Parts: sequence; C-alpha cells; structure tokens
Amino acid sequence: MPAIGWYNGMLGKPAEMSVPMNDRAVYFGDGCYEACVAFGTRVFALDAHFDRFYNSLRALEIPFSEDRAALKAILTGCLQAADEPCAVLYWQASRATAPRTHAFPGSGEPNLLVTVTPKTLLPPERTLRLVTTEDVRYAMCNVKTLNLIPNILANEHAKRSGADEAVFVRSGFVTEGSHTNVHILQDGALITHPTDNRILPGVTRRILLDLCRENGVPVAERPFTTKELTNADEVLITSSTLGVRRAETVDGVPVGGRAETLYKRLLTAYGEVFSREMRA
Ligand code: PLP
Repeated sequence: MPAIGWYNGMLGKPAEMSVPMNDRAVYFGDGCYEACVAFGTRVFALDAHFDRFYNSLRALEIPFSEDRAALKAILTGCLQAADEPCAVLYWQASRATAPRTHAFPGSGEPNLLVTVTPKTLLPPERTLRLVTTEDVRYAMCNVKTLNLIPNILANEHAKRSGADEAVFVRSGFVTEGSHTNVHILQDGALITHPTDNRILPGVTRRILLDLCRENGVPVAERPFTTKELTNADEVLITSSTLGVRRAETVDGVPVGGRAETLYKRLLTAYGEVFSREMRA
C-alpha cells in the first residue's frame, strides 16, 4: 500500500483520499506518468525521468504548468512525508477535470497525483521467468501514457503462467516487456530494440547502453527475433525497480547462462552507478 498520497496539493493516506470522477485520468486514462526508486528523498536518475515525463506531456499536449524545480519540490515534500528508506515514487499528470468529451476540454487545469510506496528491491541475483505474448499495443508505446490495458493483460498472463514478466512479440520480433525493456547478449555484444514508437525509451535501458559503451561492449539497436531471444548467450531485463537482471526461462525453456562474465561486469557497473547516485 502506498504510504503517502498527494493530489493537487492535498496530502494524506491514499485509501482515505479521492479523485473527482471527472478527472480525465478516471474515464480516459488521459495522462502520463513516471515511476522511480527513492531512498529517503534521494531519487535514482530523476533528471532522466523528468526528461521523459516532459516529453510525454509534449506528445500528449498537456499544458502542465509546474517546471522541473516546482515538480521536484512537490515530490521531495511527498518523500519527506513518507519517510521511507526505500520506496517507489510514482506521479501522474492528467489533462484536466472536465465533462467527458473526446476532444480536449476547453477549460480545466492538469491534475497531479503522487504516491510513495514502500518497496523491497529484489536481490540482483534473482533471475526472471519470461513468457512471450503477442504485442497488440498501438504505435505510441514511446509515450508513457496511463493507457496500459495490453500491458496489464500481458502481465496477468505472465503471473497465471507462473512467470515474472511477459515479453511482447510483434510479427516475430521482440519489442519489450509489459513493464520492462528486453535485451540480449550475443557474441560479446548487446542487442536491443531501437527507441522508436514500438517501445518505451527506458531510463534503465539508457543507463545500460551507456555502461556498455564505457566498457567497450558493442551495442546494436535493432529488432531481434524470438529465435534470437531463446538462443541468446544471455537475456537481460531492465526497469527502474528491477534494475538490470537476467532471465532464466522463456516460455518455460531455460535461456542464457553463456555470457555470465560479461553479464556480471555490466551488473556490477550498474550497481556502482546506482550506489554512487543514491549515496552521494
Ligand atoms: N517498458 C515499459 C512498457 C515500461 O512500462 C517500463 C517501466 O515502467 C519500462 C519499459 C522500463 O523503463 P524504466 O527503465 O524507465 O523504468
């Protein structure tokens, strides 16, 4: 359960707070969001999350008025109030509170909702079980919108299959996970779907790619097939809350395990970046 909720200036326990029925997030999911890991008031890769958030707002033409400094002050206030050693900091902006019309309403200000939820991070050595599923999403996956129905159904499918995460496949090519990015290590190189409109440009993905380049690991940003996934030397999963970790099975069949040294080098490098920023 979130420890703290905040909605348009009101702070409280989320279960005791309410949102107007006419918030467009309620009936259209007309908004965008971010989720980050926080230790106390220190947030990992906050600038990168801000970059993506303001990109999403621009793509959706949401006239959000708080700039980065004002938003950071609100988020820090929420983290202070929650006082959690480790938490997921979530925030979303919706277009407005207004009667339901598909076109943008002529009036109404964007709404900001924030939650801080205590979190225990999985140990890095915990591997993931994946299941593949058809990617039935639209062509705006690069925008972090609130519209997540295919992701929800895919993740539930994974759960019912006894797996941890669903991997979307479009026309035989792996795009990403239901709430993660998916990469493979093959012959010493990292291969990952390019950041087009078929995937979310993950903050953790970006950090991993930078680490590959710093460590002399070649990176190919190109789509790869399910066959390449199942035959890969390693299958890597990234997200803000999972960090960088590897998969042990895809559709119940063991995968990877053939580039352990390289995987561990990247994992260590990521751990160092994370610790440096969260301790600094
Ligand atoms: N892809 C999708 C669809 C996601 O929802 C997420 C995270 O929520 C990611 C990838 C990973 O992104 P990040 O590393 O920024 O958490």
